[in-house]
Amino acid sequence: MANEQGKTNFNHVTVATIRQQETIAEAAKKMRDNNVGCLIVTDNTDKLAGIVTERDISSRAAANFLDLGKSNVSEIMTSDIIWCSPDTEPRQARELMAAHHIRHLPVVQDGKVVRMYSMRDVVHEQLIESRIAAEQVAMLSACLKSSNLVEITSMVTSEVTKLFNAKRCLLYFNEDSSDHTTNVPASYNNCVCPRQCLKDLFAQENDPEGCRICTDSMPLLCQKDGATLPRVIIQLKIDKVKGVSSKGIGNIKGFLCMCGLEHAKVLNQSLLHYKAKLVKDILNLHLTNVAQYQDARIASLTDGLTKVGSRRYFEDMLENETSRAGRYSRSFSIGIIDVDKFKEINDKFGHTAGDAALKQLAECMKGLKRNSDILARYGGDEFVIILPETGIEGAEKMIERIRNKAHEIKIADNLFLSVSCGVAQAPLDRPVSGIEMIRRADSALYRAKNGGRDCTKIWSEETDESSNDSQVVQSELSA
Ligand code: GH3
Ligand code: MG
Repeated sequence: MANEQGKTNFNHVTVATIRQQETIAEAAKKMRDNNVGCLIVTDNTDKLAGIVTERDISSRAAANFLDLGKSNVSEIMTSDIIWCSPDTEPRQARELMAAHHIRHLPVVQDGKVVRMYSMRDVVHEQLIESRIAAEQVAMLSACLKSSNLVEITSMVTSEVTKLFNAKRCLLYFNEDSSDHTTNVPASYNNCVCPRQCLKDLFAQENDPEGCRICTDSMPLLCQKDGATLPRVIIQLKIDKVKGVSSKGIGNIKGFLCMCGLEHAKVLNQSLLHYKAKLVKDILNLHLTNVAQYQDARIASLTDGLTKVGSRRYFEDMLENETSRAGRYSRSFSIGIIDVDKFKEINDKFGHTAGDAALKQLAECMKGLKRNSDILARYGGDEFVIILPETGIEGAEKMIERIRNKAHEIKIADNLFLSVSCGVAQAPLDRPVSGIEMIRRADSALYRAKNGGRDCTKIWSEETDESSNDSQVVQSELSA
C-alpha cells in the first residue's frame, strides 16, 4: 500500500510509514517532511509492526540517551497498538478512539495498514453531519408556515417522515391533561399505532432529554400493527398562555413517534439524537406559537364574560351574512336585545349580580337559538343575534321567545329581568349593508325603550323616519 516515499493517502488521511530497522533520525525527518505527528512502523514484508510518535522520540529516545542516528525505530515504537478492521463501522472506530484516548486508528487488513482514521477527520466529519442535520431541520422550520394547528400537524408528520427516512410517523397530543387537549388534532403518516401504546411507553419511562431512539424494543401493540424498528420518539411540550384560552390553562404534552427508520441512519446514534433534539426544539416553538395564536384568535372572537361571540365576531359574521344574502338573493333578520334599567340593577345589587344576570341571559338565548343563528354580545347589556334565512315574522317570534324567557331570570325577591328588543329584516329587493341593518334594529330598539320597555319593535321605513325625526329634535334641543 505504501508508495515510493512510504506515504499513502486513505480517505484524505496521510499515512506515513517507516520500516522498523530505520533510524530514529530518519523517522523524525519523515515526520517533518510529511507534516505528521506519527508514523506507522512496518516490518520487512510491509506488515504493521507498531506506531512511533513525536512524543516517543522526545521522551523515550531522550530519556534513554539514544543516539538518534544509530538507534532503530523499533527501540522506541509502541508495538501493542489499537487497530481495527475494514469491517469496523465509522461509529465503532470513533468509539474505540474515544475509549483509548488515541488520535489515530489504523485499519488493518491481512496485517497491513490499509487505511487510517484520524480524530481530526472524525471531528470534521461530525461537524459536517451536524451542519447538514441543522440545515435539514431549518428547512423543516421553513415549511411550517401555516398558523392553523390542523394544517401544521399534517405538515409535521409528512415532513418529519422524510427528514428521518422513516416508514411511519405519528403526532398526537396527550388527552389526559387537564386542559383542552382532547380538541387538539393529531396527525399521522402511514401509521396506525393505537394511542394507548404510546401512553404506556411514556408512562413507563419518561425521558428527561425529550427524545429517545429505540433499536431493540417495540411495544406489542405496535408490532401487531406492523411497526418496525428502529424507532424515534420525541416528546413535545406546547406552552399555553395562561388566561388567554377559555379552557387552555397549562401546557399540552404531545408525542411524535417515527418508526421503520432507514437502518444506516441509525448507526450514527449521536447524530440522530442531535437531529431529534433539533426537531423537538423547532416543533415546540412552532406548535406553541400556533396554539397561542389560535387561542388568542378564539379569545378575541369570544366574549369573556358570557362566552357568546364578541362584537368583532358579530361584525365578521354580519359581513358574511350580508354578502351571502346579497349574492343568493336570500333574506335574513337581526335582533338587538338590551336589558332594561340595567344600571339600576348594578347600582342596587352590585356589578357581580349584574354580571350574573348577563350570563344567565346569554345562556337563555343560547338555549333558544338555532345552531345556524349567530349570537354575540354587542357591548354592555346589549346582545345581537343574526337569524339567517329568517323573515320578519319568524324573527319576531324568536326574539319574543327570548324576551319572555328573560322574565325567568331572577335578580332579587319579586324582581326579574326584562329586556327590550328591536328587529329588522334585510330586504330582498336591494342589498343593505351590515351597518345599516344594525342601525335599523337599533332604531326599532329605541322605539321599544321609548314605548315603555319590555317589548319588541320591528323596524319599518315609516317608523324609522319618525324615530330619526325625534333624534334630530332631541339633538337640536341638546345643542
Ligand atoms: P335602558 O333600559 O334604557 O337600557 O337602561 P339601562 O340602565 O340598561 O341603560 P344602558 O343600557 O345604557 O346601561 C347599560 C349599563 O350596563 C351601563 C353599564 O354600567 C352596565 N354594564 C356594561 N357592561 C357591564 C358588565 O360587563 N357587567 C355589568 N355588571 N354591567 C355592565
Ligand atoms: Mg340597557
